[in-house]
Amino acid sequence: MIRLCILGSTGSIGVNTLEVVAQHGERFRVVALTARSATERLFEQVRAFRPALAVLEDVAAAERLRAQVRAAGLPTVVEGGAAALARAAAHPEVDAVMAAIVGAAGLLPTLAAVRAGKRVLLANKEALVMAGPLFMREVARCGAELLPIDSEHNAVFQCLPPGTRAGVAPRGVRRLLLTASGGPLRLLPLERLAAVTPDEACAHPNWRMGRKISVDSATMMNKGLEVIEAHWLFGLAPERIEVVVHPQSIVHSLVEYADGSVLAQLSNPDMRTPIAHALAHPDRIATQVAPLDLVALGTLGFESPDPQRFPCLGLARAALVAGGAAPTVLNAANEVAVAEFLAGGLRFTGIAGVIEDALTRFVGIRVDELESLLALDAEVRAHAQRSARLAGAA
Ligand code: NAD
Ligand code: MG
Repeated sequence: MIRLCILGSTGSIGVNTLEVVAQHGERFRVVALTARSATERLFEQVRAFRPALAVLEDVAAAERLRAQVRAAGLPTVVEGGAAALARAAAHPEVDAVMAAIVGAAGLLPTLAAVRAGKRVLLANKEALVMAGPLFMREVARCGAELLPIDSEHNAVFQCLPPGTRAGVAPRGVRRLLLTASGGPLRLLPLERLAAVTPDEACAHPNWRMGRKISVDSATMMNKGLEVIEAHWLFGLAPERIEVVVHPQSIVHSLVEYADGSVLAQLSNPDMRTPIAHALAHPDRIATQVAPLDLVALGTLGFESPDPQRFPCLGLARAALVAGGAAPTVLNAANEVAVAEFLAGGLRFTGIAGVIEDALTRFVGIRVDELESLLALDAEVRAHAQRSARLAGAA
């Protein structure tokens, strides 16, 4: 029996995780569920899975949930606040933590899981991008096990030799090829990009995801974040991690070995496959994902990413190569720019400019400690907010 904490249980990854868990009641027990403020959805999950602990980051929302849980006569303890998220992740009765909070808000609870030596199923790529060296140092120091949920990294992991350790370059690997769908705007005439609305940017052709990652997919910053994520997870130099556009999202990534062999993982685009893989690892368990029908698909396409259409991909790679705190700056500025775009305050084509401006302003910075990293993150956000407002008003 694997005892689980799900950070971000009401989101897209969280809900998919609970679907897999529900199908395998004999294998998994849900000990803790957490979300930001989605009281109703979390209440339904508490009713269905009866965890020992439920946490909402929003304290007032947690009060409401507590009253509801009591009135329903459920035994779940309800807590509120950011510190309670970390307590859920480090809960002594938890074996594995699904880290599926979106954005930098996931860093501290995910680190708490790492520091408690849990098996960490990592969906929250922003945590790793903003704090790569520190995060991986803690994984090694605390003996945590890191399993990737991001479909590309999960695919790479499945194609690596068994026993490969997180952060250590696998022997005999020449290159990783991360696939990218190209998102919903891959074929839109370039001159129409400036007028793209949040709903258009979020209308992904192959995946149903939260709005932040959907916008990242449309700008291809998502793939940029994933190149950085792959660098830390697999210990490979930036020039050994390539991006290939593959519009069908069937090949989830590939590993090229020194002898010329290329291994790939294929499946229908459905996050329940990588989630089930990581939940049960090294076993394999059934999911409701439709079997792959290659004949019905007919052909699979591959092309190079267009640097003019997707400047964010180049910015992310430049931040990785620059090193130091550049990925922290990149991630913070991107989160602000995407939030401004979703709120209607910034054009789609303004996102890259806000990030580039932050990378230029905060250049050559090194941070080794968590406190200075969080302080830099806050400073970059304030700066990016101002530059997004200026760009939005122009
Ligand atoms: P989502 O927006 O659907 O869900 C986010 C979850 O995080 C929700 O449960 C929300 O309540 C919680 N949350 C948000 N802010 C919080 C805060 N301040 N404190 C506590 N909880 C907070 O997002 P998603 O699409 O499920 O993505 C989650 C993570 O997984 C992201 O890092 C994303 O990049 C990654 N990921 C998602 C997918 C996908 O298919 N959705 C695929 C690969 C990777
Ligand atoms: Mg991905």
